[in-house]
Amino acid sequence: MASTVIDGLVLPISLAGHPVLDFCNTRAAWSAPVPKEYLASHAHLTVWAGANGLLPAAEVPRLRRAGVRSAGPAADIVARAIRFRSALYTVLTGPGTPADWAAVNTEVAAAGTAVRLAAGIPAAWSLTGTGPDRPLLAIAWAAAQFLTTPAAAAVDACPSHDCGWLFTNPTGRRRWCSMALCGNRAKARRHARRTRSTG
Ligand SMILES: [Zn+2]
Repeated sequence: MASTVIDGLVLPISLAGHPVLDFCNTRAAWSAPVPKEYLASHAHLTVWAGANGLLPAAEVPRLRRAGVRSAGPAADIVARAIRFRSALYTVLTGPGTPADWAAVNTEVAAAGTAVRLAAGIPAAWSLTGTGPDRPLLAIAWAAAQFLTTPAAAAVDACPSHDCGWLFTNPTGRRRWCSMALCGNRAKARRHARRTRSTG
């Protein structure tokens, strides 16, 4: 796992191979007592969604301002996003419980009432509304679509103890979220152990 700065906010780099998995990676160290949380505010959620192609970039500044203006509802949206993300992570790493699927379906249902088919063939999904929940609705609708594809059955989690990031793994050959990050750290740890035991 690694972070970057977008619009002045610290956010995770995207490397999963699908934005829905990168959304799950807005938290790291999933199994640690104190995970690393990137969704620190409504602004983080909004900027992340814009940077990952789930919202038009032009909408991001207005939605950020809307989140600041209505801080209470914006905080509720972040709490919903975090609940949704936990359930999504569990169903993708399996086996999800009925409660996990219910939590996923709660947000999918909310997104379902907000999407329409834009005119034209082939038609495309289009998100209606202008409220501060737009980033979450866009993520939930992308997740609903991803979960129905075969790619959802080929998701793995990085085994590094301070990571746990998800990634697409259709060939089964990818072990780490990133060889350059977690892969190299594991290699360095193995090397240090070998040096200690022979030294
Ligand atoms: Zn990793």
